Amino acid sequence: MTQAKGTPGDGDLVDDRYDADGKLVVPAHVADAVRTLIEWAGDDPAREGLRDTPKRVARAWKEYCQGYSEDPSVHLSRTFEEVGGYDEIVLLRDIPFQSHCEHHMAPITGKASIAYLPRDRVVGISKLARVLNGYARRLQVQERLTAEVARCIWDNLQPQGVAVVIDAQHGCMTGRGVRTPGVGMVTSRLLGCFLDDERSRKEVLSLMGY
Ligand SMILES: [Zn+2]
Repeated sequence: MTQAKGTPGDGDLVDDRYDADGKLVVPAHVADAVRTLIEWAGDDPAREGLRDTPKRVARAWKEYCQGYSEDPSVHLSRTFEEVGGYDEIVLLRDIPFQSHCEHHMAPITGKASIAYLPRDRVVGISKLARVLNGYARRLQVQERLTAEVARCIWDNLQPQGVAVVIDAQHGCMTGRGVRTPGVGMVTSRLLGCFLDDERSRKEVLSLMGY
């Protein structure tokens, strides 16, 4: 998904504007929505401590959901074919991330391990974390986040295998509902040789620490 920027004349939500201080302009109806939510939660949106909260919340949500304005696959467009004969697993382990669940808009915090077995090209290792963040900074469910990261690497690098394992805690479980702090949810998506070949799968999962 891409966002049109700087289209003059339409004040809709897709067209971000910035004030003289470089801060994102928050449309009145967006601030009103946050005010309504504060009131619904039981507080007075007009009291001093909450006066600027609607704008802060609105801007924070733009940041949490920055992934909507980027295509994560661009991070994989620059590849290196000269890999010096390296034909082993490339792994980025325990990458911390934050996302938000699409059911409660509550934080999902955790770590991801991302691995691939190159066929003929590799990417700069930090790019894997950028792909993760591109999908994490949206409203998500952990299962889809895991699958999207794996699919993006699979489609763009065409490696022999991809493995993504995500271990995360859900604010909607720890802070409400059944209130079970400390419980992590683990999801995985294995493609190619990591799915088909038991030895490769065992190897990558043990490198990840599972
Ligand atoms: Zn939730």
